Amino acid sequence: MPANILNLAAYEVCKIDSDDHNYHIEAVAAVAPKTCQACDSESLVGFGRREQLIKDIPSHGKRVGIYIDTRRFQCRSCNKTFYEALPEVDAHHLMTSRLVIWIGKQAIKRTFASIAEEVGITEGSVRNIFRDYINQLEQTICFETPKWMGIDEIHLIKPRGVITNIQNNTVVELLPNRNKETIIKYLSSLQGKEEISYVAMDMWAPYRDAILQVLPDAKIVIDKFHVVKMANEAVERMRKSFKAELSPKVRRTLMHDRYTLLRRESDLTDKEALLLSGWANNFPTLALAYRLKEDFFKIYDAKTRNDALALFAAWEISVTHEVRDAFSDLIRAWRNWQPYILNYFDHPVNQPITNAYTESLNNLIRVMNRLGRGYSFEALRAKILFSEGAFKKELQRPKLERRMGYGNPDMPVMFRMASGMDSKERSTEDEVAEVNYGVDISILTRMIEAGEI
Ligand SMILES: [Zn+2]
Repeated sequence: MPANILNLAAYEVCKIDSDDHNYHIEAVAAVAPKTCQACDSESLVGFGRREQLIKDIPSHGKRVGIYIDTRRFQCRSCNKTFYEALPEVDAHHLMTSRLVIWIGKQAIKRTFASIAEEVGITEGSVRNIFRDYINQLEQTICFETPKWMGIDEIHLIKPRGVITNIQNNTVVELLPNRNKETIIKYLSSLQGKEEISYVAMDMWAPYRDAILQVLPDAKIVIDKFHVVKMANEAVERMRKSFKAELSPKVRRTLMHDRYTLLRRESDLTDKEALLLSGWANNFPTLALAYRLKEDFFKIYDAKTRNDALALFAAWEISVTHEVRDAFSDLIRAWRNWQPYILNYFDHPVNQPITNAYTESLNNLIRVMNRLGRGYSFEALRAKILFSEGAFKKELQRPKLERRMGYGNPDMPVMFRMASGMDSKERSTEDEVAEVNYGVDISILTRMIEAGEI
C-alpha cells in the first residue's frame, strides 16, 4: 500500500497519481461504521458506494484532490440507508477540515483569487469560508474596551474610522465609515462603555455628536497633532499664494524650501535658518506666517487650560489682516472646538497622545494605504484585527506575586506575556484571566511593512 502521504490517520491511501499541477489520491476511511446512524443497531449490510472528491491543502506546489470511496449501508433493524460519515472532512464544503482552516488563515494574508487558484476552487468559495472564519474569530476574540479611546481617520480605499486604545497603543476596531450612526452603533455595543473616561479625536463633528450621545461622561479631547497641523497648512497656503507673482526659477526654489518652512524653529540647521531669513527679507508676509505658526505651536507649551486660552487670545490678535485668510481655518476650528481643544491641557491624557501614540498611529496610517489594493473592506478589517502575532495580551493572575516571590505589594499583579502562550501553564492556574487589549500598532505597522499581512 502507498505511504499515507495525506498524514490523515483516519484514511487508508489506495493509490497516488500526479501530474505537473495535481495530486490525485484515492483513499477509503480506515474504519467502517459499526452502528446505524438512525437507531444504533449493529445489524448493517453494505448498500453500494460512491466516489466523493474532497479537496485538501495544496502540497509541493500541487493541488490535492482526495477521491474517497464512500460506503453506503442499510440497517436491517430500521431499514434506513446512509453513507458513512467521513472523518476530518467538512461535508458542506467537500473539503478536509484542515483545508477549511487553512483557507481562513490564508485569506487574511492573501487575495481570494490567489487562494482559489492554488486550491482549485472558486473565488466565491474562498469568500464564503473566509466569512465563516471571521464570524468565528469575532466570537472567540474579544478586545478590552479602552479607558482612553482614540477615534481617528484611516484611509482604506476611502476614509474609515479607526478605534484605538491610547494607553496600550493598540487598534481595537475598524469601522466601515465615519458616519454618526456607525459610531453610535459601535459605541452602544461596547461592554463596559461607562468606564471610557477620555476620547481623543480629530475635529470631526459626527464623532463628537456620537460620543456626546452615547458616552455623556467621557471627556472629549482634540489631539494636539490635528490642531497644530492646521498652523502648518496656513504657512503652506501663504507660500502658495506667492507662486503666481514669482519667476519660474524663484518659484522652484520656494517649492524646494517648503519643508524648511514647516519645520520648527528650534529644529532648523544653520543653513536652513539662513535660508529662511533670506525668504523673510524678500517676503515679509511669509515670514510673518512662519512666526505665527511658531507662536501657535508654543500655545501647546502651556501648563493649564487658562494659560493656553490666554496664549491663544494674544496670538489671535497678532494675526494681522495680511495673513488672516491663511489662518482663518485654524481660527474657526479653534472657536468651534475650543472646550475640547482646551481639555487637552487639564488632564493626564496629553502625554501619551502627544508622544508614542500619535507617532505610531501616523506611521500605521502611512503604511496602511499600501494594503488597500485588491481587498474588500471586510478582508482589510480582518487583516488588521485578526492577524496572528500582533495581539497585546496580559494575564491577570492574582497568585503570581507570591509564587514568583515578588515581595513588593505595590507591584501590579498583571504581567505581560507573548501572544503564543503556554497552554499547559494556563491550565494549571485556574484563576488566570487573559485580557486582550487589541492589535499592537507598532507590531502591526512592522508586519505590514514586511509584507507579512
Ligand atoms: Zn437503524
